Amino acid sequence: MPRKGNKDFNDTQKKDRKKLPMRKKACRFCVDKDMFIDYKNAKLLGSFLSERGKLVPRRMTGNCACHQRKIVEAVKRARILAFIPFTVTHSSVLHG
Ligand SMILES: [Zn+2]
Repeated sequence: MPRKGNKDFNDTQKKDRKKLPMRKKACRFCVDKDMFIDYKNAKLLGSFLSERGKLVPRRMTGNCACHQRKIVEAVKRARILAFIPFTVTHSSVLHG
């Protein structure tokens, strides 16, 4: 039974892929050379985090490997310096 279920799930996934046109996102930082990844820029880093404060994978944001690595480093730095919360619950506990 679970095998059959998995097969169905994969089939539906393939169908969805065919429906949606594959769009290759360009790396924001490679396109705009003036953009600079800074750990103090919480607004910019926030755009690479999910609602729960998790890092969004490269396949979603379209960043190149080089810039994704720099973002990860900046986000981790910003979290330690409290520019960005580690998790949503983490910040709510601290601030009541
Ligand atoms: Zn890039």
